[in-house]
Amino acid sequence: MRPCSVIDYHDAVIQAAICVSLATVKLQRIACALGGMKIEDQSAHAPPCLGHCVRLFWDENSFRNVTGGRAVSIEERNSSQIRYVTASDRTLAISHVWSHGQGGRPEEVFTGFNTCLHNRYCSIARSIGCNSYWMDTPCIPGHHDNKDLRKEAIDKINEIFATSKVTLESIFAALLVCDWNIRAWTLLEAMRGRRNIHLLFKDDKILPFKQILDTVLQEGSIDLAILFCTAQHLIPFQLAPNNNVNPYNRRLNGGYINVEEAGCLLNHRYATRPGDGVVIWSLMCEEKASYSPTEFWKTRIDRILNTGFLMSSVPRIGDSEDIPGFNWAPARPDLQAPSSANGDTEARYHSFDGEGSSAGVITERGLQANWATCIIKEHSKIGRISNRISALSRRRTPTQIQKIVDKYLKDYRMGALLRPMPENLSGTTVQYRGDANGTLLAMVGLNDRGQTWHWRGIWEWDEDDPLPDFREAAVLLV
Ligand SMILES: [Zn+2]
Repeated sequence: MRPCSVIDYHDAVIQAAICVSLATVKLQRIACALGGMKIEDQSAHAPPCLGHCVRLFWDENSFRNVTGGRAVSIEERNSSQIRYVTASDRTLAISHVWSHGQGGRPEEVFTGFNTCLHNRYCSIARSIGCNSYWMDTPCIPGHHDNKDLRKEAIDKINEIFATSKVTLESIFAALLVCDWNIRAWTLLEAMRGRRNIHLLFKDDKILPFKQILDTVLQEGSIDLAILFCTAQHLIPFQLAPNNNVNPYNRRLNGGYINVEEAGCLLNHRYATRPGDGVVIWSLMCEEKASYSPTEFWKTRIDRILNTGFLMSSVPRIGDSEDIPGFNWAPARPDLQAPSSANGDTEARYHSFDGEGSSAGVITERGLQANWATCIIKEHSKIGRISNRISALSRRRTPTQIQKIVDKYLKDYRMGALLRPMPENLSGTTVQYRGDANGTLLAMVGLNDRGQTWHWRGIWEWDEDDPLPDFREAAVLLV
């Protein structure tokens, strides 16, 4: 790789420092102000192009004839078409946010890919000994006629980023607070490529992320260093060679993480295209993508899940369809946008990874787990609570219990409040670690058939009332 100029690098640190001092300003505004990015323009040009270069489209035969992951060839193309080769360890992987403008999808029905950008990535790839580059815009078809090709391309993302020579991130503002770092797809790309992330600066200079981090730690301000604490997914991770190499560590080395951790990381990040949240979530945990929440959770049968991870307002599969055994399962990793149109001011609880809570087992019949449980009697006797609850709490809690019954249990014969149990014997329950004033409780309901429970939602218990008594019980959530 050719040496990069120190001046460019210091510019980056100065930009980042400016961002820190403006930390109270909304993130999107910082990104726009510092980066000069134009969100409305989806097709940026590389300097010195003034915006009149030819648009490139794919050579569809070349795309279809490549087996394995497809990357853009830097050697072969004609004046209007991009040709493809199999992605390999000589591929430069480029991660970017669409709103920064890097062109449309490769098919002729879209806007195409600017020649100047293609030339820029070819030249960077050539300078570090690569024969190809991968970027979502020219490499993932977008037209619905090509949805099989699109699926194939998404299935290969993990492999491409894990084996590519360098992952290049084009930076428009300070990396850590810019929108590249808060989008869902780029999170996945960074985690797969974190072995060797480079940043792209002015004049097409590139620099290893690790070098920037080292220098900031040695010479930068502590305020800026703190921001890097939120960026573990960008930092190369390798176990020391004499560490035990078990399958779990091998998965960590590959950048795969467990379903709860991935869910939390994505909980605050969004993907523009509906349904992509689950695709990204599955790719962070597994090599193969899942394309629906049901498909995703079915791949996890016989595996465990921290019960504490379920304590969130994330929508469930059962909210929109009936999939017996899986209605309790999160339908997406992030919270749905609040519908303020309906005056929806309900509190929303982000998920935490549930660490320290006891695990349940995902089975075909449902999630089997032990919970701290408080039974609420059948709704024909609204407001009456089980004789398991002490006389004191019976006297003082009916109003809150009544609200819970009204809101969640109208159509159910019986209800229960659940709290996650600790994984070991220290303490009796596990506290939610997100933003809540009171104790978070899960509401479940039992209908007339059998002994299976339905997920109904989350309730924040008003601490002015004493909590009722809870007892450990096995619960099958369906
Ligand atoms: Zn151009």
